Amino acid sequence: MLTPVEEAFVPLRPAVSALPAYVPGARVGAGAPAWKLSSNENPYAPLPSVQAAITRAAAEVNRYPDMYAEELVGALAAHSGVAVENVVVGNGSVALLSHILSAVVDHGDEIVFPWRSFEAYPIAAAVSGGKAVTVPLEEGTGRLDLPAMAAAVTPRTRVVFVCSPNNPTGPAVHAGELETFLAAVPKNVLVVLDEAYLEFVRDPEAPVGLDVYTRHPNVLLLRTLSKAHGLAGLRVGYAIAEPRLAAGIRAVSTPFGVSHVAQAAALASLQPEAQGQLMEHVEALVGERARVVESLRDQGWVLPETHANFVWFDLGEATMQRAAEAKEAGVLVRPFAGHGIRVSIGDPEANDAFLTVASSWR
Ligand SMILES: *Cc1c(COP(=O)(O)O)cnc(C)c1O
Repeated sequence: MLTPVEEAFVPLRPAVSALPAYVPGARVGAGAPAWKLSSNENPYAPLPSVQAAITRAAAEVNRYPDMYAEELVGALAAHSGVAVENVVVGNGSVALLSHILSAVVDHGDEIVFPWRSFEAYPIAAAVSGGKAVTVPLEEGTGRLDLPAMAAAVTPRTRVVFVCSPNNPTGPAVHAGELETFLAAVPKNVLVVLDEAYLEFVRDPEAPVGLDVYTRHPNVLLLRTLSKAHGLAGLRVGYAIAEPRLAAGIRAVSTPFGVSHVAQAAALASLQPEAQGQLMEHVEALVGERARVVESLRDQGWVLPETHANFVWFDLGEATMQRAAEAKEAGVLVRPFAGHGIRVSIGDPEANDAFLTVASSWR
């Protein structure tokens, strides 16, 4: 028997009804003085050359974009040192995550990922109809437990997500442990190496994604222009994968998924002159990260080693209270209830404001 409510409404798929909400970082209210360190955004505005490309493209949006973003794909391939058939673009790498799963996951197939990690993973996994298999992080260090992840792979596993550096904890995987992991995972299981924070990594033991991908055709590199390039608001991500897999992902992608304006901005951002300026910004943020980490250490904090544009505080039950205190002080951070707080690296003034908050937490 259907209840009156069930009779009156179109049912949602159970997997959809049960979805956890993607929690966006807190937004700055109109007129409120606040430093927004809640979404891992780049504090630098887009370069003037990129803004000019956006303005030019605005005059042409009565036309559909180039469906497969051929010029942008060409630029990304050249930028990454791969062929165009290896590159697929998407409306942010979050959209690509879903397209990747659409291409390889059938009902009930298993998707292995670390937890806690990027909150888009459980949502994409549930929507795909696959079964999420989560593997806890290493105790205390915030590092991925790659041996445990390899052990979680079964004959039903189709995809494993390896987030490096891990959002929200910060450590990068190391080349040696990744090789051991890949040797243990069957060649027909897709390993997505999510390199959203690639440009911020300074760990000498971190793998070179392209080398790993070149040696292991079941590895896909997932990258984005949202972080180092500072184009989060325009939504451009890309995958690097072997041609057959790339074609499958392209086939299930939303048609015209990357807008004309976004394609133009991304192309401008990939110009050699722009690259130089962007990498100066990244270097400044890496410098700020070092300064923040050192100040926190001086305050007595023991934190996971971060190679991304954020730091992680394992605060357990105190999390929501501490986040409220930060907000009170004008600093927006990203709390994960009952677990901890992620704080993005911003400009020096924002970081100083946060350091004051962090010392008050002690
Ligand atoms: C920010 C982030 C992304 C990028 O998402 P976009 O959709 O490209 O903005 C991907 N993966 C991880 C782990 C991230 O933190």
